[in-house]
Amino acid sequence: MVLPTRRDLAVRAVLARGLLTDDQPLAALLDLRAVQDAATALHAAFAEVTAPGQPVLHTFAVKAGSLVPVLRLLDGFGIGCEVASPGELALARAAGVAPDRIVLDSPAKTPAELREAVSLGIALNADNPQELTRLDALAGSGPPPAGPLGLRINPQLGGGTIDAMSTATATSKFGVALRDPGARDWVRRAFLDRPWLTRLHCHVGSQGMALGAMAAGVRATYELAEEINEAAGRRQIDTLDIGGGLPVDFTSDDNGPPFREYARLLRETVPGLFDGRYGLVTEFGRSLLAKAGFILARVEYTKSAGGRPIALTHAGAQVAVRTVFVPESWPIRVAAYDAEGRPKSGPLVRQDVAGPCCFAGDLVARDRPLPELSPGDLVALLDTGAYYFSTPFGYNALPRPGVYGYAADDDGPAVLTTLRRPQTMDELVAEYGGDC
Ligand SMILES: *Cc1c(COP(=O)(O)O)cnc(C)c1O
Repeated sequence: MVLPTRRDLAVRAVLARGLLTDDQPLAALLDLRAVQDAATALHAAFAEVTAPGQPVLHTFAVKAGSLVPVLRLLDGFGIGCEVASPGELALARAAGVAPDRIVLDSPAKTPAELREAVSLGIALNADNPQELTRLDALAGSGPPPAGPLGLRINPQLGGGTIDAMSTATATSKFGVALRDPGARDWVRRAFLDRPWLTRLHCHVGSQGMALGAMAAGVRATYELAEEINEAAGRRQIDTLDIGGGLPVDFTSDDNGPPFREYARLLRETVPGLFDGRYGLVTEFGRSLLAKAGFILARVEYTKSAGGRPIALTHAGAQVAVRTVFVPESWPIRVAAYDAEGRPKSGPLVRQDVAGPCCFAGDLVARDRPLPELSPGDLVALLDTGAYYFSTPFGYNALPRPGVYGYAADDDGPAVLTTLRRPQTMDELVAEYGGDC
């Protein structure tokens, strides 16, 4: 059964379970089968290009879907966690992900974070020379660190189509800027002076990077590793962490994440990566989850202003912050359902789909041709499985919606599993200082 059909069944299951109410006119849904399919596609893509026995650890960038049951699910599919804060590490550990399947990458790790990661045996990539100096104190003296330690580099290849997502620009805040004067020599020296430093890491950007640019970043990382190992006279760098960042097609249901295309391009661009001499780590986020999720919201009112029909719904900036604030970079598809959960048909009318927040820009679609919406209808914001409901924006004290996993097959209604309870009003008040 295809994804849009499963989605329709999930919408009806949400209504049948009475999950959309006046208190909770908004819910988020995740197609568990689509998550599994994406995980399977990722494993298969790299299995096709790697050497027999070559170690590969796929991790999920927790910021793309920071929900404990989702991390547990992915871990069950053989995908660990990439974490970038103490909170994300706590989520990964709460999900039961083993320390040797976790990678820590934040650019602003505190001394306590570094100590914890080193003692737990969590792999860690230092971001900058000062962090490396802190690691000297932890790893250079005393017992050898329990987990592998690496260094993030920025190959400074330039950005993609979205500035805020481009981490390989000349002035990016991430990693050691490799093309700056003296930087390459400094990195080589940093490794030769630190026998315990065994990994190189790069992540050149998210959404909007061309696959070719991503592969070029991996190639630059590989070439540097070869150079360092040559200078060391041994295979000091034994693992390359190639980051994530695979773009997602937000325009249709058809295109799954191009894991296979990317893996094949990597094999062409960096053949030495796959001869078995290096272990590999990947850190995909959006491409594993985006297509699997959608947000479902009730249309509360409809109106017209300046000749423009407007649907006032309950899904806005609180669950779609990037789409609302940077609509040109993050357009999403909206599907219309009637109050019984049937896909809505009828002539297309250009209309705005607005959220509940009290600022004028709170729109998830502008001038969008859709069947004319009426109060009680539902809108589904598609491809929002990553970085949307799991990354809420606190505005107007709107509660976090419930998140439900769904499984649907030909035999009957979709089965829903709670992945996050809707936030209660008491919890909300406490979050806003009510308990102080
Ligand atoms: C955000 C991030 C990722 C994941 O990026 P996606 O575009 O979601 O695949 C991976 N690694 C690092 C270091 C990141 O910051």
